[in-house]
Amino acid sequence: RPRVLSGIQPTAGSFHLGNYLGAIRQWVALQETHDAFYCVVDLHAITVEQDPKVLRQNTRTSAAQLLALGIDPDTATLFVQSHVPEHAQLGWVLQCLTGFGEASRMTQFKDKSARQETQVGVGLFTYPILQAADILLYNAHHVPVGEDQRQHLELTRDLAQRFNTRYGKTFRLPEAYIVKDTAKIYDLQDPTAKMSKSVPTGVVELLEDVKRSAKKIRSAVTDTGREIAYDPENKPGVSNLLVIYSALSGRTIDELVADYAGKGYGDLKKDLGEVFSEFVTPVQEKVTTYLSDPAELDKVLAKGAERAREVASKTLARAYDKVGFLPSG
Ligand code: ATP
Ligand code: MG
Repeated sequence: RPRVLSGIQPTAGSFHLGNYLGAIRQWVALQETHDAFYCVVDLHAITVEQDPKVLRQNTRTSAAQLLALGIDPDTATLFVQSHVPEHAQLGWVLQCLTGFGEASRMTQFKDKSARQETQVGVGLFTYPILQAADILLYNAHHVPVGEDQRQHLELTRDLAQRFNTRYGKTFRLPEAYIVKDTAKIYDLQDPTAKMSKSVPTGVVELLEDVKRSAKKIRSAVTDTGREIAYDPENKPGVSNLLVIYSALSGRTIDELVADYAGKGYGDLKKDLGEVFSEFVTPVQEKVTTYLSDPAELDKVLAKGAERAREVASKTLARAYDKVGFLPSG
């Protein structure tokens, strides 16, 4: 079976609709056809300041959400990044292969560092290189992510290629697996910006009270005019709502547009609130159940880490040897 690897940061208490539609939904589908590795990337989370207690809680809540959304720990390998030290170890080797200028071209760093009010850490700058290590350790064929990760995937391929050229074939060049329709879900208050955990304005969170999300959807910025049409250029707000509606309901955008002919934005928003609530209510219940037994959750994650380390340690040993490090005995 081909391999997939992907990760999600435990930087917030809840995932949002962009995380689910852009990434996790594909994770769930791909575990059926692929040897899947999915991780909660806590090493990435500390690229911005985290309260240790909150980070620990958010890491468990992230794992619980992945399980509730359909990741099956008997089918896929579900683990926490810091439990597999090989990620940081390979990350260092890859940092030494990365050009400073090359890393400086990452647009996500530019965006995030510009937004940050406190001191910007070097980790925020080098995080795409650690991400490359995450992927290359498992020799993943495919990496299911949202559109915002495309540039980081290109960097990963470049680093794999460079390592292979310099030291001999070691890593597979992974391909981004990006589902076009839902690759970029936009912020409801600013439908030109991506919905993000780190910019919590128009963000629909999976774990918030459904009344609150319904309200957020009702007050989503829509466009001038009254007609419900899919036109991302001129009607980014309504188009974003249609994309979300279509993905959650399984109905095509054309069907929805036909259904809402002659109706107003208010009708669309009210119905979408209900569709979201129907989708998320059982997910919330499952999350509560998983979180009620943290010892069991930790056991699932420990088992995942053990499986992940079996693969990761072999890849790291091969890479270390190629680089010229002495065997440790
Ligand atoms: P942060 O703002 O802290 O970076 P995030 O919301 O981008 O948080 P991540 O943990 O960085 O969340 O990303 C997890 C996955 O979700 C990635 O595959 C990413 O591409 C995807 N993703 C994030 N936001 C969106 C979005 N708005 N639309 C589609 N996919 C998204
Ligand atoms: Mg992100």
